[in-house]
Amino acid sequence: MRAVQIATFDGPDGLRVVDVPRPTPAPDEVLVRVRRCGMNPVDRSQATGRWNWLALPHIAGSEISGVVEEVGALAGPLRRDQRVSVAFRVFCGRCHYCLRGREEACNADPHSANAPIMVGLPSEGGFAEYVVVPAKNVLPIPDGLDLDAGCVAVLDGVTAWHETERAGVGPGDHVLVTGASGGLGTFFIQFAKLRGAVVHAVTGRAALAPRLRQLGADTVIDRQNEDVALRARELTAGRGVDAILDSIGAGMFGTNMQALAPLGRLVICGILTGPDAQLNLAPFYAQQQQVIGSTGGARRDLEAVLDAMARGRVQPVIWRHFPLDQAADAMRALDDPGRFGKVVVDVA
Ligand SMILES: [Zn+2]
Repeated sequence: MRAVQIATFDGPDGLRVVDVPRPTPAPDEVLVRVRRCGMNPVDRSQATGRWNWLALPHIAGSEISGVVEEVGALAGPLRRDQRVSVAFRVFCGRCHYCLRGREEACNADPHSANAPIMVGLPSEGGFAEYVVVPAKNVLPIPDGLDLDAGCVAVLDGVTAWHETERAGVGPGDHVLVTGASGGLGTFFIQFAKLRGAVVHAVTGRAALAPRLRQLGADTVIDRQNEDVALRARELTAGRGVDAILDSIGAGMFGTNMQALAPLGRLVICGILTGPDAQLNLAPFYAQQQQVIGSTGGARRDLEAVLDAMARGRVQPVIWRHFPLDQAADAMRALDDPGRFGKVVVDVA
């Protein structure tokens, strides 16, 4: 089968299009013919060596939709040619957290304290014509929903859904969304609106403001030309925002804390601008604020996102498609200043 491997930790330049043997599913696994695989910042992090214990060559790709090709003997009721999304988080099903329905917190893998363990990390992923995945990760795509939606729901949809829940976003809350034009941000805006919030979208790409408003943002803050914390306070009569949905990390941390209201929750699911931040504990405890980590989500989160999409309550936002043999260009496209939403690789 054709596949794109990370051959060296040189980012897009280290990717190679190769022919490798088609994998065979174990009894509790499913062979999926990949049709779409989203390009995610986590793929670039792999390709640039953030997890240097990763054995090369390696096939990344964690946002998979496709068609069931072969079902292992113990893999349950799935059938060939069924259209499916692959829940991206790999979990054991037996640990303290899995037994409580918190698959995203599974700590069975020794690397789980510092890496999201997922289809494509460290197992082989979806930038290939076929991928073998645990049967328990395979969910049917509802009728009427296409493979594009089934793909972008998998990681960004689930991560944003879970984070919005962890933030406890409720009706009337003022919510700040950072990185608003990205794959996660476009979901954050929609999920916060579903919960009845007033949404303030922060972007470095002011030209995209009309599209952010179309998605539901009540206001757009241009972080290149405006003081984000000051604007957040102006928009809330000086109070600050009740919740912040962030995937940017250290680069926004100080600003985010200045923008946060008493009882506010800052939820962080990524470190695109680095991991190390400083927290002034004086205003933090006096205002009873919370800083909350969030990562991925469980299968029930994927079901919820697919359902919201099937009902037309949430739109998948896809910016560009690339063929598999241009996966390197798809990875470079993550940094394109005009990008709005997801970059998706079409396989087959
Ligand atoms: Zn577990």
